[in-house]
Amino acid sequence: MRLQLAHADLTIRRHPKTFSAIVTAVLTFSGVTAFGVAPLSMIDSTPKNVQTVVETVTPTGLDEQAEALAEYEMLLHRTDLTRSTDTADTLLRRLGVSDAEAAQFLRTDPAARTILSGRPGKMLQAVTESTPGGGQLQELVVRGPAADSAQNSTHFTRITVRRDDSGLKATSEQLPMQIETRTGAATISSTLFAAADEARLPDAVTGQIAEMFGSDIDFRRELRKGDRFSVVYETMTADGEPVTWGTSSGRVLAARFVNGNDTHAAVWFQEPGSKGAYFSPDGKSKAKAFLASPLAFSRVTSGFAMRFHPIMQTWRAHLGVDYGAPTGTPVRVVGDGVVDFAGVQNGYGNVVIVKHSGDRATVYAHLSRIDVRKGQSVSQSDLIGAVGATGWATGPHLHFEFKVKGAHVDPMQIARAAQATELSAAARARFDSMSRQLQEQLASAERDQATRSASASVPRRQRME
Ligand SMILES: [Zn+2]
Repeated sequence: MRLQLAHADLTIRRHPKTFSAIVTAVLTFSGVTAFGVAPLSMIDSTPKNVQTVVETVTPTGLDEQAEALAEYEMLLHRTDLTRSTDTADTLLRRLGVSDAEAAQFLRTDPAARTILSGRPGKMLQAVTESTPGGGQLQELVVRGPAADSAQNSTHFTRITVRRDDSGLKATSEQLPMQIETRTGAATISSTLFAAADEARLPDAVTGQIAEMFGSDIDFRRELRKGDRFSVVYETMTADGEPVTWGTSSGRVLAARFVNGNDTHAAVWFQEPGSKGAYFSPDGKSKAKAFLASPLAFSRVTSGFAMRFHPIMQTWRAHLGVDYGAPTGTPVRVVGDGVVDFAGVQNGYGNVVIVKHSGDRATVYAHLSRIDVRKGQSVSQSDLIGAVGATGWATGPHLHFEFKVKGAHVDPMQIARAAQATELSAAARARFDSMSRQLQEQLASAERDQATRSASASVPRRQRME
């Protein structure tokens, strides 16, 4: 888990009657501080305008003080995520709750029981009395996927367990998620994903960036230290907090990538009556007839060591690109076409060969699984099988070939050479104004990041954990 969610802060309860109002205020506040979305500049900044005030205090009577103290009851606020191994007891213990009644309630109440069912990763916010060894549960708010999975991309479930005079009560609500626009920027020092972690970007956003610039930059071979990028993206939030389950991040709206001496930029735009797509700022579509890679760039495929297969080298001159990836990684067809072969061939093992227009063909070998049959029409990005180690392969990888009129060519060259469609003249004005606005947001994200790197030598304040 990359977002630092576990977090606690203390507040003071003055009068039990105003309890819920204070809890609401504090929960709202803790929501802002607890989730890893606040810009680093905010987290790192040291308080300004701190003043020391010296004044003479006249002690009041002891009784009065004791009474005042009794009125102040410490409340502990904690946030965390549910885990697949959680029981009512382990979950409550992690939240600093020591409350047998609450544990029993989580096991038996129909609404509260759903907190521990289904997929893990639900967001927890607990309020307890601050007692050594854990206190009594006052309130637990849990946000998770919609009850109806068909609504998962639009709604979330909020379960609230609250203590009142008569004991614990639970309510469950279905509420709409909100879309928020966020920005991020980072400089590459090792890998794209390491930089994305530094900028606290969700993996899905990083994957989209690699996809949108897939024919501009070979992310497996051409990334250099010092390359940098900025991004504007949408994210789904539940009560203002980025959701931690499912496809929590929406679309990348714009991104800019500096790779060596080249700068690439792309903006999402939807022409009326057509599907949205990425365009360069000068209005050329980023979508190409062929994808640069049959494997989506992900944390898994990018980090998987490339394997060389000595058997293949002696079998024949190696005329393809090998992508190291774990067995089972989905393989997609790089362009529209028709399956010409799907089955077993000697050294290739399980292999799919797809014919494309213009006497072009692509080969996908050593598959663990084949998902298409001969004669089937396929569209770009359709899944045709999965990475494996069948045939003459010493370890799991995808062997990929691109042939034009029977001759092998570099797939990256084909992807780059493909014609780009241009934006219609009618949509141009709207595109230009939107693009300008997004470029400004990217520039501002880049400035923020530059400021952060400049101050990176100053020891960072401990992050809340
Ligand atoms: Zn190979």
